Amino acid sequence: MPTIMNDDRVETGITPGAEQGGFRDVLAANHARRGKPPLHLVDMSMQERTEIAQRLGLPKFRVSQLANHYFNRLSTDTDTFSDFPLTMRQQAAEVFFPRLIEAVTQQVADNGMTIKTLWKLFDGARIESVLMRYPKRTTLCISSQVGCGMGCPFCATGQLGLTRNMSTGEILEQVRIAAAMVRDGQMAGGPGRLSNVVFMGMGEPMGNYKSVLSAIRQMSAQPPEGFGISARNITVSTVGVVPGIRKLIAEKIPVRLAVSLHAPSDTLRDELVPMNRRFNTEQVLDAAHDYYVASKRRVSIEYALMRGINDQAEHAHLLAKRLNHYGDNWVHVNPIPLNPIEGSPWTASEPEDERQFLNILHKAGIAATLRDTRGSDIDGACGQLAAKTTTKQQPQD
Ligand code: SF4
Repeated sequence: MPTIMNDDRVETGITPGAEQGGFRDVLAANHARRGKPPLHLVDMSMQERTEIAQRLGLPKFRVSQLANHYFNRLSTDTDTFSDFPLTMRQQAAEVFFPRLIEAVTQQVADNGMTIKTLWKLFDGARIESVLMRYPKRTTLCISSQVGCGMGCPFCATGQLGLTRNMSTGEILEQVRIAAAMVRDGQMAGGPGRLSNVVFMGMGEPMGNYKSVLSAIRQMSAQPPEGFGISARNITVSTVGVVPGIRKLIAEKIPVRLAVSLHAPSDTLRDELVPMNRRFNTEQVLDAAHDYYVASKRRVSIEYALMRGINDQAEHAHLLAKRLNHYGDNWVHVNPIPLNPIEGSPWTASEPEDERQFLNILHKAGIAATLRDTRGSDIDGACGQLAAKTTTKQQPQD
């Protein structure tokens, strides 16, 4: 019997709070038949790092050196650690820097300004991340779970079901490698700095809360404790797991919250986002507004526009009414044309419906921007690259 995720209990991938009630994660056939990823430096507390180092005969300051190489130099190649004893380098690499992710394919689009990587994890599972360069920022979209258990019928990742949660190490390795690529000028635009991270790849971050939170803390801490990416530039996206939003409020970390709403009414959202049967639109919007009040940061509302389903004037009017109920200027709506799954009945909106949707929101005083579909020519939306490859390669054990 699965247990609720809790600080002192084992995480199973079952979304917190969803143990009772009408919603359970949709699990992949091979769920829970995999071991845990090897422990990595970033999966360990300071005390664990020190104890392990001592067992290897290394004094405490060597742990700080390793963390400095990892977070400051973005390197796990101990052969280049000239300040580290030659005889200990290989052992340190094995114990603290096991290889957690390996690039399978990389696709480049938007004249080199978008790079999407499909990664293989230790157990053969596939996840993805997308690096996007803009004039004033460089953003990495990362995955936090293998597959996703939310079961949204229009989504490629949702069709996979949840295979397993990713470890903090697996999450942060996506960030480290991307940050090194940007620093070293491996994408168009020359050398730069990874400035933003969004949890909008595969998975529901609130379903893997503990690892996601540890990853956020280490992303935002200053080197040598972290990568030094401002928490204000990190976005956690949720489909509306209310207990997760409330826990995040209590953490008091100024990350941005994005809520994937996709529908303005419970009747429609019950169909599009099965989690709505557990936490309805009122509960989700209440929690989102509480997040705004506590953090003073505008909440993003993500809304995938699907032709004839949720993109008509009546939907825009109702959405505006529901959001304005809480007051002004607390949300920014990001409608995004759906990137449809091949052969699926759910398809992208007509451009005139997109324009009408935006106009209605604007006239109601709601900030809204049609979200850029970066990388859509390389299957760039929500888990699609991984979904295709994984489907071909099932089973992965
Ligand atoms: S839309 Fe998001 S929450 Fe829903 S199944 Fe896809 S990845 Fe999961």
